[in-house]
Amino acid sequence: MDRDRVFQLYREHVNAGKIAMFERYGLDAVIGRRDGIRFWDAFDERSWINCHCNGGVFNLGHRHPAVLEAVLNSLESVDLGNHHLPAPGRAELARRLAATTDGHLPGVVFGVSGGEAIDVAIKAARHATGRSKIISARGGYHGHTGLAMAAGDAEYREPFGGTQPGFTQVPFNDPAAIDSAVDDATAAVILEPVPATLGMPIPGDDYLPGVQRLCRERGALLIVDEVQTGLGRTGEIWAYRHWSLEPDVLVTAKALSGGLYPITATLMTRRVHAIFDDEPFIHISTAGGAEPGCAAALAVLDVAESPGFLEHVNALGERFEAGFIDLPFSLRRLGLMMGLAFPARDAGMLAAKLLFDAGIFSVYAGNDTSVLQFLPPLVTTDAEAGEIISIVRSVFA
Ligand code: PMP
Repeated sequence: MDRDRVFQLYREHVNAGKIAMFERYGLDAVIGRRDGIRFWDAFDERSWINCHCNGGVFNLGHRHPAVLEAVLNSLESVDLGNHHLPAPGRAELARRLAATTDGHLPGVVFGVSGGEAIDVAIKAARHATGRSKIISARGGYHGHTGLAMAAGDAEYREPFGGTQPGFTQVPFNDPAAIDSAVDDATAAVILEPVPATLGMPIPGDDYLPGVQRLCRERGALLIVDEVQTGLGRTGEIWAYRHWSLEPDVLVTAKALSGGLYPITATLMTRRVHAIFDDEPFIHISTAGGAEPGCAAALAVLDVAESPGFLEHVNALGERFEAGFIDLPFSLRRLGLMMGLAFPARDAGMLAAKLLFDAGIFSVYAGNDTSVLQFLPPLVTTDAEAGEIISIVRSVFA
């Protein structure tokens, strides 16, 4: 197979619109070999440093050896498992995930995709409160499945029946807007601590604690979508820790898989998890918590919780901040969750193309095209960080 054939088959069978877009912008990469912070073209010598990481899927780089070994070992003896029956790997992963929240969120529901895990969060919040209203941020992103899509932007739900009853969006980082939205019919507020698709706006210090306070006062729950911010990306194991929050529900996905075997989890308080006490089959996911995925996730947690890991993330973040000084963008940053905010609309798109041609893969923010999402792997070494900085400087200085 050659490049043209791959593009042709994609055009015919997978996504013609995407191929038309790639052709329009001269993005002709076909992903081949991948290792560490890099991937290579399948048909020529070009390579790219992955500074998007699929929104954090590749937080530990591509094919991290410890995660790979764990998955391969598990495949010697297990398979997807059976959602009816307990399994040791799944039990141990649930314990380890609960421990990352200091036991605050002991209930765990496994899934396959982030959107599915968000759906679980919203179902459980509605069940626990007996209320239906869900408030989310305009321009945020929680997935394209049922309830996750309903909490998202109009352009992605309007072709499929439009706004579902009970869903309201407010501007992010606007205390007055959330104050007027949360009422005694509100089941939950769902937010990404740093909304990636919105261009990585870092909330004001008081914003998220204020949202939590309103939720408490008015009997609503707080769901944090840590699909991108979780597992060390922001320099804490969970971003909510930056503000000492006590969320009722937390959603983790992407990085939990180590990029090798899909697995997601919705963590919740005992009260919210009680949804399963009387009706154990109220939510089912056949491949959710598949046992090779549990092995991957346990290895991911081993790395993310290893001594010095978060310190490395924070040190790298500071290194990038210093390295990006005097460039024509402002840096939005929490740990290694970064947005390069340019002073012109669509400049994030242009920046993605310029960096692509220079050997860095990154993606602009869909809901603010002036911003380039910049998420290098958390395992980037100091020397590799120097290489990334010098490419970015050579493109933008
Ligand atoms: N929440 C956030 C913050 C995300 O970035 C994404 C995926 N980009 C999702 C949820 C949905 O995850 P998935 O694509 O695995 O359904």
